[in-house]
Amino acid sequence: MDVSTDTAVAVRGRFAPSPSGPLHFGSLVAALGSFLSARAQGGEWLLRIDNVDPPREVPGASDGILRTLENHYLLWDGPVLYQRQRFEAYEAALARLAADGHSYPCGCTRREISAASPGHLYPGTCRNGLPPGRQARALRVYCDGQALCFDDRLQGRQCRRPGHEVGDFIVKRADGFYAYHLATALDDAFQRVSEIVRGADLLDATFPQLHLQGLLGLPRPDYLHLPVAVTREGKKLSKQTRAPAIDDGDPGETLSRALAFLGHPPPAELHGAPPVELLDWGIDHWRHENLPARKTLAVAAHTPGDEA
Ligand code: GLU
Repeated sequence: MDVSTDTAVAVRGRFAPSPSGPLHFGSLVAALGSFLSARAQGGEWLLRIDNVDPPREVPGASDGILRTLENHYLLWDGPVLYQRQRFEAYEAALARLAADGHSYPCGCTRREISAASPGHLYPGTCRNGLPPGRQARALRVYCDGQALCFDDRLQGRQCRRPGHEVGDFIVKRADGFYAYHLATALDDAFQRVSEIVRGADLLDATFPQLHLQGLLGLPRPDYLHLPVAVTREGKKLSKQTRAPAIDDGDPGETLSRALAFLGHPPPAELHGAPPVELLDWGIDHWRHENLPARKTLAVAAHTPGDEA
């Protein structure tokens, strides 16, 4: 399906995986939650591959993610956006931040920052200009003490002082690549995303992204942070916890488990149903109030990853 150019399309969601490995149960939950939320409102659902960090990109991972989504009938609208196509736009935004006095070059190394600030909050060494003899390595944005708040549609009102908790954060890295917060804030606006449904592990990342939206005059989407799938020991499912890749062999079973995880267990008569039927049921029955309003949730005993 083509993406609508009609600005009257009210809801546009997205899934934005990083191609650092195959999808696992936790990432499929984020894909499914964002898909169902958008579709249940008659909205569009876009796919973006967040390959802003080439050193962490795993060869073949992007194609594998696309295949797994297709196999689960999580079919997106329009072309896939690859962040690698967007480097010129990121550079233009950096020029604007610099011209407006919102950013500054930083010459500090990671080691210097952790020595000066055990919490890794940037101590502000280069805020008022590079110290003599120092070369610019990265670019940071000024982040002052005022509170930023947003109303998360599941987790409730959230407020932080990014200046105190994050400090002046990096928008262009010492290795020349662009920072995740910059790319995300710009691309969500570029794709006209109206709602961001993603895992609660990214809740804190919302604040630097809101800050950049403010500095660059970008619209603010709605946010809903889903519970993150964790092991019984409370560890996020990830490559580090040896969460297995989604088994493309039984997409209906995986979707049923992901629906149940999101507080929407399919009825017994849909047991063994094909993915399209499960998704149609999910679209018809999707209610935000049935989502577990938690930041983490252990996967049921029989789900992959639990044994990690
Ligand atoms: N690419 C990020 C990740 O896979 C998610 C970005 C987002 O949803 O904002 O963790």
